[in-house]
Amino acid sequence: MNGKDYYGVLGVGKDASKDDIKKAYRKLAQKYHPDKNPNNKEAEDKFKEVSEAYEVLTDDEKRSMYDSGRLFGGAGAYGTGYGPQDFGGFYGSGDMPGGAQGFSFTGDLGDIFNLFGGAGGAQTGRRRGQRGNDVEVTVNLSFDDSLKGVYVPVTMTRSTVCDTCKGTGSAPGTLPETCSTCGGRGFVSQDQGLFGISRPCPNCGGRGTIIRNPCPACKGAGSVRSPKKIKVRIPAGVTNGSRIKFKGKGEPGAGGGPPGDLYVVTKVARHPYFGRKNSNITMELPVTYPEAALGTEVMVPTIDGRVKLKIPAGTEGGRTFRLKGKGAPKLRGKGSGDMLVTVKVVVPKKLTKKEKELIRGLEEVEPKDVRAHIK
Ligand SMILES: [Zn+2]
Ligand SMILES: [Zn+2]
Repeated sequence: MNGKDYYGVLGVGKDASKDDIKKAYRKLAQKYHPDKNPNNKEAEDKFKEVSEAYEVLTDDEKRSMYDSGRLFGGAGAYGTGYGPQDFGGFYGSGDMPGGAQGFSFTGDLGDIFNLFGGAGGAQTGRRRGQRGNDVEVTVNLSFDDSLKGVYVPVTMTRSTVCDTCKGTGSAPGTLPETCSTCGGRGFVSQDQGLFGISRPCPNCGGRGTIIRNPCPACKGAGSVRSPKKIKVRIPAGVTNGSRIKFKGKGEPGAGGGPPGDLYVVTKVARHPYFGRKNSNITMELPVTYPEAALGTEVMVPTIDGRVKLKIPAGTEGGRTFRLKGKGAPKLRGKGSGDMLVTVKVVVPKKLTKKEKELIRGLEEVEPKDVRAHIK
């Protein structure tokens, strides 16, 4: 099983294009680059993580393997050049297959990687745990709550180490056996001319071990999934489809690794007459032809109560009036957006006899040709 969420690491969706991935990667790589963060282990790890994600997701073959779950244990076996400590949990042996080191990034990413090239730390022998998975949950919000901000309970299913087998996956009193196909390495090599190609061991699925007597509690997985309820604060101003990150609230890491992140995606219910456009609130305001022609004042609802809106004489349908500061709170930065009120001139579908007469009378007093310019 591959425990890494490469899409989450780069903060892109599963359908992200190569360009999106490159863009996201550049931004993160610059942020976490070791030159900018000297002696910062966290940034260094982050940098490796995004580089690894980038390397896999921009390679069509690796990406499709990853998407289908066939790319095990990170990209180590494919030669990212990052040391085995990153994948220590997966490979029993500390040896990397030939050619795995010295991977270099390709040109269009610029020089920022040169300094870091090959410095994956394979020689340092540091071992660290596996970062926990990111978790994504969707919450339903009312339109009002999306503007006010709200605490919502979130139930997520998280993997935790199985208590019965302490994570080995093997029934109590037994131990996993070393895989005989790969000798515990988790991958197998094939000679193909000049290059040795490594792939995850088909016998053990890249784990390096075989479980003969699976733990009855976790069925050999070593972890169990259990629901956990937490409360998260949704900030005021979210829209339908906002994705909010809660750092470290995802699945717990394994072997001392950091926890993953929680992403909460908001689904905002439709309002009967308000809409949203970024931080602006939109509304359609129906007016009659006499109101539009002669002008009027209308009390319109806003999120802070009703306000008087002056419709000047001669207002055409489709004209938008802006009520400054009456929009939604801005998610980034301070203040609020505006309320955009768009006038809709309502044309009656059915007319009484009297109405028909009056409208005909209007034609007689105002015989202007409104289509003169398109003749
Ligand atoms: Zn177990
Ligand atoms: Zn094996």
